[in-house]
Amino acid sequence: MSQTPDPAAEGRAPRGARHRVERTRARARYDRDAIYAILDAGLIAHVGFCTDGQPFVIPMLYARDGETILLHGSVASRLVDALGAGIPACLSVTHVDGLVLARSHFHHSVNYRSVVAFGRATLIADPDAKIAALARFVDAIVPGRAAEARAPDRSELAATSVLRLEIEDASAKIRSGGVKDDAADLALPHWAGIVPQHPVFGAPIPDESVPQGTVLPPSVQQLIAGAARA
Ligand SMILES: Cc1cc2nc3c(=O)[nH]c(=O)nc-3n(C[C@H](O)[C@H](O)[C@H](O)COP(=O)(O)OP(=O)(O)OC[C@H]3O[C@@H](n4cnc5c(N)ncnc54)[C@H](O)[C@@H]3O)c2cc1C
Repeated sequence: MSQTPDPAAEGRAPRGARHRVERTRARARYDRDAIYAILDAGLIAHVGFCTDGQPFVIPMLYARDGETILLHGSVASRLVDALGAGIPACLSVTHVDGLVLARSHFHHSVNYRSVVAFGRATLIADPDAKIAALARFVDAIVPGRAAEARAPDRSELAATSVLRLEIEDASAKIRSGGVKDDAADLALPHWAGIVPQHPVFGAPIPDESVPQGTVLPPSVQQLIAGAARA
């Protein structure tokens, strides 16, 4: 990430840094591998920013492109307007991997992988770069899908803004494993354990205009064969 160019500094967050996890610090990761793996497994980011003294947190599709995150939206959207002006933004991605059911209320939790990233965005003006970025979005929804659909035309391109958010700082936090009940509660008669949670895609439903017998495109075949995203 751009503010940690020193490889020795990667994997750490100095005291007082905005991206330093304070609670349960053993679950924190600051290295690119961990952060990118969580980002690449996701589809939706919640993007936070403050404008006119009002905080907003907006769910968005996103795609990672190297050390940057691509966002897109209508040229008329508040988020595009605000982030395009270069104000600070914060973006968060979360995967829930399981429910943690403890013997006590206190130790109920979830297993998760999450990322919080900070940065500022710039608008992509170059039409070819914009087209390439929009193709990345489509491939972020289903890998390989961009080549199976029409690229944006001139008016679609004019109606859409694409932002490139430079990741300045980022943290990951990962909870995995089992229940962490207090020793004194282990003899209680309550069931405790983990209920895993996995995203699963159902059988594809063709649009009504797709001719009967049309074979599923390779991207969709691979998606449903792989079943889970994260
Ligand atoms: C699905 C899910 C559910 C959660 N539910 C709860 C809950 O109900 N109650 C609760 O107290 N906590 C919950 N957490 C944990 C919560 O996200 C924070 O980690 C927690 O509030 C402690 O933050 P802090 O005080 O250490 O850091 P803060 O001072 O709040 O944040 C400092 C920095 O730490 C980093 N950071 C903090 N949390 C995360 C994170 N989850 N992932 C990546 N980076 C992070 C960010 O860079 C942030 O800027 C949940 C997390 C997830 C993913």
